[in-house]
Amino acid sequence: MIATLENIDKHPIEVMAAEAGLAIAVVDDQGREIYSANNNSICRHLNPGGVFSRACAEFCGKAFENTVAAGETTAFECHAGLECRATIIAGAKPLVAITGRIFVKGGNYRKARLRAISGDWEHFPPSDLFENVQLADSVAALEKTAEAVKHLSLAANVEIEDLQPESRSAETEQITEMVEQFNRETVKTPDVVYPDSEPELSNDPLPRRKERRMAAAGAWRSFFGSLLQSDYAKASDSILGFIARQYGFASLIWLEKKENRFAKTAGFGEMKKRRMRLGIAPDDPRLIEAMQNYLSLELGERSKQQPGSRTMNLFPIGVGGEVSAAIAVLDPIEDEGVKRQIARIGHSIAPQLEILRLRGEVSRGDSKSAAVRKFSESLKQIDTDDLWLNLTQNAAEMLRAERASLLIFDDKTDALAIKAIIGAKGKPGPGEEIGARVAKHVLAAGEPFAVADVSKTGLAPEPERRYKTGSFLSCPVSISGRSIGVISFTDRACGLAFDKGSLDLFQAIAPQLAVAIDRATLKEKAGKFEQLSVTDEMTGLLNRRYMEARLLEEIKRSVRHSFPMSFMMLDVDNFKSYNDEHGHPAGDEALKLVGNVIRETLRGADVAARFGGEEFSILLPQTTREEAAAIAERIRGNIEQTKFPKRRVTTSIGIASCSAELCMSADLVSAADKALYEAKRRGRNRVIAFEELNSVADGQSQK
Ligand code: GH3
Ligand code: MG
Ligand code: MG
Repeated sequence: MIATLENIDKHPIEVMAAEAGLAIAVVDDQGREIYSANNNSICRHLNPGGVFSRACAEFCGKAFENTVAAGETTAFECHAGLECRATIIAGAKPLVAITGRIFVKGGNYRKARLRAISGDWEHFPPSDLFENVQLADSVAALEKTAEAVKHLSLAANVEIEDLQPESRSAETEQITEMVEQFNRETVKTPDVVYPDSEPELSNDPLPRRKERRMAAAGAWRSFFGSLLQSDYAKASDSILGFIARQYGFASLIWLEKKENRFAKTAGFGEMKKRRMRLGIAPDDPRLIEAMQNYLSLELGERSKQQPGSRTMNLFPIGVGGEVSAAIAVLDPIEDEGVKRQIARIGHSIAPQLEILRLRGEVSRGDSKSAAVRKFSESLKQIDTDDLWLNLTQNAAEMLRAERASLLIFDDKTDALAIKAIIGAKGKPGPGEEIGARVAKHVLAAGEPFAVADVSKTGLAPEPERRYKTGSFLSCPVSISGRSIGVISFTDRACGLAFDKGSLDLFQAIAPQLAVAIDRATLKEKAGKFEQLSVTDEMTGLLNRRYMEARLLEEIKRSVRHSFPMSFMMLDVDNFKSYNDEHGHPAGDEALKLVGNVIRETLRGADVAARFGGEEFSILLPQTTREEAAAIAERIRGNIEQTKFPKRRVTTSIGIASCSAELCMSADLVSAADKALYEAKRRGRNRVIAFEELNSVADGQSQK
């Protein structure tokens, strides 16, 4: 039954879903998704092969049950923030169609975006996850389609259940005709006119006008279709070009919302090179109203070059009632109809543009995590001699700062001590003293401090100390909620001021940096006691006490910044017999060797501890479940390959990753423990993730 569905070339539901720009899925009385058309990429990732994830099972998985119980269409917004309508498909066998799976609220879409970049969906390949996410700015079209699905569905259901391919044709044709009819009525295509072709004369014969309109619509469709192939910058450029060509305009500007201001990001014609500032904010109610009513907002332009004012039309673009960009047309537009057409173009491209914008963001997020990984690797290389200097250097390189300083709080003197300065010539000068003053502040506040221009703060450096830029960024480094130091960056290599991106990046590397600094501090402290209290004497790894404290801290950080984080428990297999056969001292040697392999396999920021006996625990900050699984597999393999003096040694590993449900350290430890137990149960020398264990349990209960 499922298979036959897949074989139907173009199921009418598929055609309808594609044309309406939303997903239509069919669920059966078992709550299984047996069919989906034009499914969006988020749902495809969350429910691979139509099997609902645990979160989805609560929504789409219950659509059948809820809708049949209600006896009518039900509406729901799922955990991912997607809007859905579920309708009963009457037929030989009851089925329910879920129509929609689109974002209607801007806020939901933004939340999803966050989850994709640095949240619980981060482990999906980001560019795939948002491949064809759909957005709409109202539920009207969705409801219309859901209604239409009801009418379609009778025939479709018959087809799903009974029809052989050869006996389908008449029925299919009839349905296809219905779909086309539906499309004619509901799918909006902006009426694009060609100003360069002859003007529309009133005696223009009707068939020709219709022909021309269809040609224009065709041109629009193919242009529109090509939009998703490019990136945001290219798309905005080609939209300007398209509008200019269609209407014969000479100067157009593309404006982007940047922190509630408009910034010119592209221009056409005479505006290509000119600078432009706009006196209106993207959240101006007049603009939002214009967007909602398919209108433009007329603004007067003031220009030094061209005295006297001229008017420009601003066409806002956005989704979910929020303006994210605008097209400014500087050519006069007499025809109100043309204004409406451009507004409509803006309206129909908005969802596509959002997807392109998101793809860009996601891929930048990607490069951020690559940078974080690189940083984490770089910490591993750090040699103890120049420890402080290297730490500072690495952090500065990450933030592209040419100068940086690291100050660590010394509780003996109750003051910050300079540990390293890079980029400064000679001894610490007045600039660094300013840094020290700011640092004290930052340490006390526990908050980063950024200034665009130091010279305007009254903290200006001495005139002979030349800085490339006046920008300054100072960040606290804290561990277990306690500020331990401050790292400051000046002179961004690109000559620009430090911005939110710099701060984001710092926050991404902060956990690793904090761990490295913390350990460096501990190492440096002459008092052996301090070191002894956190390290395990036999293996030289950290001890359980330290691990428990770090775990609390890392979980907090992971929840606060939506960073992924993983934890694993490792237990030596059949170790009792190792002791029994070769003696306890040989057992100790083997444990040391295991400790060494773990240390060598891990990355710089990972924290490994001997948890007790022949059990080890490993904390992996900013590490997704997939990455953790790969690392665990590497550890397992490396131990298996290591030549132990007496006999082969293997280990079993259980992994648990931080999530909404697992965000307490006790839960995380016990989850990893359960996974470890399962690894033992399944025969040892293997890696099991807690989440995997759950899906197995789910699968079994479904049988
Ligand atoms: P498995 O974990 O695969 O289920 O089997 P096991 O034989 O390892 O099981 P169990 O956890 O019950 O045994 C752990 C043994 O590890 C008990 C003890 O002899 C040994 N062990 C624990 N700590 C140490 C240690 O510090 N040194 C040595 N030499 N042996 C230790
Ligand atoms: Mg054990
Ligand atoms: Mg054991």
